[in-house]
Amino acid sequence: MNISSREAIVEKLASTEFDVLVIGGGVTGVGAALDAATRGLKVALIEANDFACGTSSRSSKLIHGGLRYLEQYDFKLVREALKERELMVSRTAPHLVSPVSFLFPLHEGVKERGYVGAGLALYDALRGKERVLPLHKHISSRKMREVAPDLRRDILKGGILYYDAQVDDARHTMTIARTAERFGATVANQVEAVELIRDGGRVIGAKVCDRESGKEFHIKSATTVLAAGIWNSKIQEGAGINHGYDIAMSKGVHIVLPKSAISLKTGVILKTALSVLFVIPWKEFWIVGTTDTQWTGSKEQPLANREDIDYIIEQANQVLLHPLKHSDVISVYAGIRPLVAPMEASSTTKISREHVVDHPLEGLISVAGGKYTTYRIMARDAIDAAASDLLKIVPKSCTEEIVLLGADGYQASLNNVGGLAAAHNVPREVILHLLSRYGSIFEEVLESAKIDASLLERIDPNLPYLRAEIRYAVTHEKALHVSDVLMRRTRIAIEVRDRGLSAAPGVAQMMASLLGWGSAKIEQEITEYEALVEREFLAEASIGGLV
Ligand SMILES: Cc1cc2nc3c(=O)[nH]c(=O)nc-3n(C[C@H](O)[C@H](O)[C@H](O)COP(=O)(O)OP(=O)(O)OC[C@H]3O[C@@H](n4cnc5c(N)ncnc54)[C@H](O)[C@@H]3O)c2cc1C
Repeated sequence: MNISSREAIVEKLASTEFDVLVIGGGVTGVGAALDAATRGLKVALIEANDFACGTSSRSSKLIHGGLRYLEQYDFKLVREALKERELMVSRTAPHLVSPVSFLFPLHEGVKERGYVGAGLALYDALRGKERVLPLHKHISSRKMREVAPDLRRDILKGGILYYDAQVDDARHTMTIARTAERFGATVANQVEAVELIRDGGRVIGAKVCDRESGKEFHIKSATTVLAAGIWNSKIQEGAGINHGYDIAMSKGVHIVLPKSAISLKTGVILKTALSVLFVIPWKEFWIVGTTDTQWTGSKEQPLANREDIDYIIEQANQVLLHPLKHSDVISVYAGIRPLVAPMEASSTTKISREHVVDHPLEGLISVAGGKYTTYRIMARDAIDAAASDLLKIVPKSCTEEIVLLGADGYQASLNNVGGLAAAHNVPREVILHLLSRYGSIFEEVLESAKIDASLLERIDPNLPYLRAEIRYAVTHEKALHVSDVLMRRTRIAIEVRDRGLSAAPGVAQMMASLLGWGSAKIEQEITEYEALVEREFLAEASIGGLV
C-alpha cells in the first residue's frame, strides 16, 4: 500500500453511498465485510487502528469445538464450531489453519478414562460428515513416555490424544480483510468511527477520522454493522442508542516458551480448578495459557502482571517433570474476552449462547461475543440482519464456498516444495515458511527479491521472516506502522525476548522508503514502539499490574 493508493481508498470511502458499513477490523468485522461483499453488496470496512489489533491477535490461536462446552451439554455450539474447524482446514484456509494434537492426561485408570473417552468420542462424532482431522486415540502409560516424556509418570495414568486446529490469528484476520477487498469491499485501517450519524430513527452512516491525516469526513451507508468487540458499547452510547446487551471484560494471558523448555511431541490440555490450561505447540515455541480475570484497564493495551505469569507456570508445573522457570519465558501477551450478557429489558437482542446480534435501530446492527472459530457464523448472522433493512433482495451467505486469498492452489504448491525452491533459488525451508503465511500467492513476496537479493536476508537471524516480508506488508497488507509489522504481519513481538526492540530501527528504515517517512517520523515510530514494549515489561514485573 503506497500513500497514493491509500488516499484513493479514503477518497472512495468519503464519496460512495454504501449498502453496508462495517466498523471494526477484528475477525468478526472482516468476516462481515467478506460475507456482505460476496453477496454482491457495496461494502466499506473501517478499522480504527490496525486489523486484529484488539482481541483477534491475542487469542490462544485455536480453531476448536471447545471441549469445555461439552461438559456444559452445549452440543449445538460444539457442533457448529467443529463444522467451521473442518471447513477451514479442508477448504477455506488450509494454508493458515492446520491440525494440532492435544493430549488429555488422566490421573486415574478406569473411571476417568471412560468419562473422557466418551466425551472425546462425542467430540469426534459432532463434526458432521466432513472429517479431515484424525479421530481421538487412547494412550497407555507406557506410550506416554514416548509422546510426552516431560509429563509426570508418578501421578498420571496414560491419556487420550485428540485433534483440533490452530491459526496465526492476526494473519488470518488480515487475510480475510484482503479477500473482502478482492471481492469489491473498500477496506481501510487507521480510520476510526467517531460518531454514528442518525436521521431520526435510522442510522445512515458514521462520522469518521482518518488517523493518518487527521481529516474527518462522513461515510454514508444504508446499514451499519458494529463489530468493534469490547468497544461496541462506547460507540453506541456516543449516539445515545441503548443496546440490548452488556459487555464485561475478562483478561486472558499467555506465556511463550522455547520448544526446548518442555519435552513433548504433542500439545497438552490440563483441567484446572476454574477452567483449562493449554500447552500449545507454536512453530519453534510453546504457547501456554490462559488465565481468566476481570480487567478494568486500557482496552487498547491489556497488560499481564507477575501474578498472571506465576499462575500459568504454577499450573503447568503440577504435571511437568522438569518445572518451568521464569527465566524460560520468552514473552507474554494478554487479550480481553468480550463476554456478552443480555440487558434485562431488551426486546431487540437475539442471544445465542456464544454471540449476540442486536438490532436496536433501523440501519444499525451490532454483533459481539462468540469465539474466533465461529467468526463466519457471526458474520453471516450480522449481514442477515443488515439485509432485512436494505430495500433490495439480498442473496444468502455464500462464505462456506469462498476460499481465502492464498488457499487456491495451496496444496499443489505444497506438493512441489522442492521444485519451487529450485525455481526461486532459495532453500526449501523458505518456501515452506512462505507457504504457511501466504499460501499459493507466496511468489508475490519473492518478487521484490528478484531485483534486490538482500531482501532474502532475515529480519532477525533466529527467526524465519525475510526482509522482503516487511516490504510486502507495506505494499500489499496495509501495514502503516512499525508495530503493525512486528506485532501482527510477523509475530516477532512474541517470538523474541526483546519483543522486537532491536529489529524496530531496521523495520522503520525499510518502511520509511515505501511510505515517504523523514528522519523525525522514523524516530517517532521507533520511540512509540519502545514505549509499547516498555509498558509491557513494567506491568509484567509488577504485582497487581498497571492499568
Ligand atoms: C485470551 C483469549 C484467548 C482466546 N482464545 C480463543 C481460541 O483459541 N479460539 C477461539 O475460537 N476464540 C478464542 N478467543 C476469542 C476470540 O479471540 C474473540 O472472540 C475474537 O477475536 C473477537 O473478535 P472481534 O472481531 O469480535 O473483536 P476484536 O478483535 O477486538 O475487534 C474489534 C476491532 O474494532 C476496532 N475498533 C474499536 N473501535 C473502533 C472504532 N471506533 N472505529 C473503527 N474500529 C474500531 C478495534 O480496534 C478492533 O480491532 C480468545 C479470546 C481471548 C481473550
